[in-house]
Amino acid sequence: MSEHNTQREEWSIADAERTYGVSSWGGGYFKIGDNGNIHVIPDTDHKDMSIDFDALIQEIRDEKIQFPVVIRFHDVLRSQVVSLNEAFNEVIKEASYTGKYNGVYPIKVNQMREVVEEIVDAGEPYDFGLEAGSKPELLAVLAYNTNVNALTILNGYKDDEFLKLALLGRKLGRKVVVVIEKYSELTALVRISKQLNIEPIIGIRSKMQSKGMGRWQGSSGEKAKFGLTVSEVIKSARYLESEGLGHTLKLLHFHIGSQLPEIRAIKDAVNEAGRIYVELHKMGFKLEYVDVGGGLGIDYDGSHSTSDSSRNYSLTEYVADVVYGLKDVCDLENVPHPNIVSESGRAITAHHSCVITEVVGEIKPEGAEIDTTETDSEHFLLKYMRELYTSLPSDTNSQTINYQEAYNDAVQWKEQASQAFKLGVIGLEEFGKIETLYWKITRQVQAYYKLQEFVPDDMQELDFSISSQYLCNFSIFQSVVDSWAIDQLLPVAPVIGLNREPVKHCSLVDITCDSDGKIDQFVVEHAVSGLLPMPELREGEKCYLGIFLTGAYQDVMGDMHNLFGRLNEVHVFSHDDDPEDFYIEEVINGSTVEQVLTIMQYHPSAMAIDVKRAIDKQVSSGAIKPREGVRWTDFYEACLSGYTYLKTD
Ligand SMILES: *Cc1c(COP(=O)(O)O)cnc(C)c1O
Repeated sequence: MSEHNTQREEWSIADAERTYGVSSWGGGYFKIGDNGNIHVIPDTDHKDMSIDFDALIQEIRDEKIQFPVVIRFHDVLRSQVVSLNEAFNEVIKEASYTGKYNGVYPIKVNQMREVVEEIVDAGEPYDFGLEAGSKPELLAVLAYNTNVNALTILNGYKDDEFLKLALLGRKLGRKVVVVIEKYSELTALVRISKQLNIEPIIGIRSKMQSKGMGRWQGSSGEKAKFGLTVSEVIKSARYLESEGLGHTLKLLHFHIGSQLPEIRAIKDAVNEAGRIYVELHKMGFKLEYVDVGGGLGIDYDGSHSTSDSSRNYSLTEYVADVVYGLKDVCDLENVPHPNIVSESGRAITAHHSCVITEVVGEIKPEGAEIDTTETDSEHFLLKYMRELYTSLPSDTNSQTINYQEAYNDAVQWKEQASQAFKLGVIGLEEFGKIETLYWKITRQVQAYYKLQEFVPDDMQELDFSISSQYLCNFSIFQSVVDSWAIDQLLPVAPVIGLNREPVKHCSLVDITCDSDGKIDQFVVEHAVSGLLPMPELREGEKCYLGIFLTGAYQDVMGDMHNLFGRLNEVHVFSHDDDPEDFYIEEVINGSTVEQVLTIMQYHPSAMAIDVKRAIDKQVSSGAIKPREGVRWTDFYEACLSGYTYLKTD
């Protein structure tokens, strides 16, 4: 935050853009509008359509939906599916590549039924399929991936039941590919296929030498959890051949990790897989597909770099590297180009949802101010502190005093006062006055340094140590778990009123009773900062904060820490004829208190009876009036059936 010594120009939308980087991380879907509110451009082919967050929040409030909410933009989801497929189709055409693109969506990234349905629907013209990594996911995929031309890819460890379900899919006429993760799965699959007399389609996951880099680089290399080594791949192919099933080996799979920040890793892996494919072909195993897994990254911090929260390549670059990489290896050995499968989950879902929470309070480090008027026989530390404070000129531009020295004195006296208090030398009231004066001095010192060109290091720290925390009505553990668990940087910005200069610099805390429940890493002015510029909170004015790109993984991975449950969800569709360019198609209610208690084995209806009984007892004894007793009973029950978050309206 370089706000020192500048005769500040009028704050503009360009300044807001520079501060929050909305266009850098927005992927074309988010921008700051001329009125200073964040807008969503739900369909990048129809840039004239734009949804103002102010109008959307107004409608959510009119519908009496409580915050925090998850907002899903279904058009964004569709648009991402189309972009990915079109990108592959275009490059395939341009490269005269003879294989096709047959992508799948790995549902583990976001299994919400509405999300999966939308992706399947948008992917229909492209025969876009689904991937499942567990038995429950496979049960869902069998019901939803009904297009017989689309692939169903099965990863993850499998038992006999899982394999049998895959063969049920074959019976339904679907292209279900069982990807072998470890050798014993292959013998089990052959045994069950022969028992049921159903021919499988088999894929093999190769353990790659190429390292993924980034946070999930453990997904590749010799120590990887999944996949077969080269010798196991050969052994598997030969085994299938000996069982008369060599022709069922159709796909070679790899996945070197999610959120790959570095394009080189992708090129390397594609080349390595291409080589294995070509060699298997020369051995007589005519595979039809190479599956390049997931890993296509998202530029969460907008830096377009190799940082863990970014990527140093574009979608087109990624696609070109996959297509040309495979083409080059095949052409060299005159082997037909395989069809290309990719399993991009994060890239498809991340942009489509965001969390909107309300800032409900400010936690200042100094707490409250008390009257510091002089009284008789004060302790000398209090006297010193007051004298120091009154000696500071009211004009912070004044050069007549050494502010650093003043600050050092204040820090030292406050420490001494704290010792003196603990020893019983200073009373509570006096210590309170010393604290108040200390914070007043600190604020003055900070105000002075804000106007200076040169700021000593420890004075720069001052910005952080005297910053406020904004209390937001949500739980990090439920809504942005990646920020807590893996330090994922996520774009955070106020969604309304960015045409006013944000004068507060603060960190964010949630309403859980957990000191980990905070966000203190933001991308501000293209750099990582511990503080986020925010507007001042004003009485009677709401302050809504958006946490963006939350659609992948954390949308479905949140937990119920402190019994805060799932959020209310608002599903938004764009509509050209609507004056606001959108309509709310569906509202999914978040968890009620009753629901989260039930998951924890409580019996809410029995609890209500117990509490009513206790109230009745107080009524009989005369401690509560009968009418009042009824109201308390109703109140308890209403809270049980209510939302788990703070009620703010
Ligand atoms: C998780 C996973 C994916 C999805 O990866 P993204 O980086 O989210 O695209 C794809 N394939 C496999 C095998 C996975 O385990």
